[in-house]
Amino acid sequence: MTDFENPVYYDDNADESHLAERTVAVLGYGSQGHAHAQNLDDSGVDVVVGLRKGSSSRDAAEADGLRVATPVAAAREADLVSVLVPDTVQPAVYDDIEEALEPGDTLQFAHGFNIHYNQIRPREDVNVQMVAPKSPGHLVRRNFENDEGTPGLLAVYQDATGDAHDVGLAYAKAIGCTRAGVIETTFREETETDLFGEQAVLCGGVTSLVKQGYETLVDAGYSREMAYFECLNELKLIVDLMYEGGLGEMWDSVSDTAEYGGLTRGDAVVDEHARENMEEVLEAVQDGTFAREWISENQTGRPSYTQLRQAESDHDIEDVGADLRALFAWGGEEREEVPADD
Ligand code: NAD
Ligand code: MG
Ligand code: MG
Ligand code: MG
Ligand code: MG
Repeated sequence: MTDFENPVYYDDNADESHLAERTVAVLGYGSQGHAHAQNLDDSGVDVVVGLRKGSSSRDAAEADGLRVATPVAAAREADLVSVLVPDTVQPAVYDDIEEALEPGDTLQFAHGFNIHYNQIRPREDVNVQMVAPKSPGHLVRRNFENDEGTPGLLAVYQDATGDAHDVGLAYAKAIGCTRAGVIETTFREETETDLFGEQAVLCGGVTSLVKQGYETLVDAGYSREMAYFECLNELKLIVDLMYEGGLGEMWDSVSDTAEYGGLTRGDAVVDEHARENMEEVLEAVQDGTFAREWISENQTGRPSYTQLRQAESDHDIEDVGADLRALFAWGGEEREEVPADD
């Protein structure tokens, strides 16, 4: 049996009565917001969605049968405020709603960035918790509707009432996370592992690996379409196998040639240097260098971000990929549909 380092909670460990007689304000109706709000509502919790006047998400929330108010009015009415607007606008939204909080209210987050890096300094008389589903919002909603759960994280940063942990578990249960299992963590661990994972492996590492592989083949004279299929398109098949059954299921499913080639060459490509680079990326997350850079980038109109996005979309693999995806009818994967940001 596996020994988990952190406690894991299921439905039986959570008592929904800690949310009974309480109103929950869900600020934002995007990926996470629409899912939390509807799941809470279906669980019998009194929900009000907080959105700015004129927000394009207002119609969507009302069409889903939810009550909508401004963020400040929603926070004033609520006992628990779930902050599900984009991380970059959360500090400004918190400044607006702070005076609407009462002692003993709960601030709920789905990611720890603003609390961990002190972009929000919460009042000392409120609870501060995180219930973070480990899935995009459309799956949090779809799983709930199918009587399934979505794994999640729970962290308590500040316990003003003495029962913050129970309130957190009740929230996790109401959105369906304790059906699958909720891992206890801290704001620090969630924030730092999340940033490291997306930078070094999931978003940054993988795209760089794909581009380098593609460029290596194209520079050696192979066709762009072959390079695209081998280095980008087939990645999904490999990732699906790892998701289902770990590295082992992937190795079992590919040919012996692929397995031997991968086992002998993989560590040579992503080698000691890559490991050292990863350690540097982690250090910049831990010492706040990355957070400061990203905050200043946002305060100055996102100059580098805009440039990097442009360069990425100008990469040749995007060009050939768009043509190939238009030419071949495969996949047709369901895409996440959320109300447009405004
Ligand atoms: P999102 O961008 O999908 O949605 C943002 C919502 O906030 C929209 O409804 C938008 O209209 C609204 N909004 C924007 N500015 C606003 C303002 N000033 N005042 C009020 N409303 C405003 O956001 P998201 O991806 O759901 O992220 C919300 C939180 O959930 C973040 O902390 C994020 O890190 C976390 N999270 C996201 C995911 C994910 O898969 N998207 C997964 C786990 C955690
Ligand atoms: Mg209140
Ligand atoms: Mg993450
Ligand atoms: Mg993240
Ligand atoms: Mg192949």
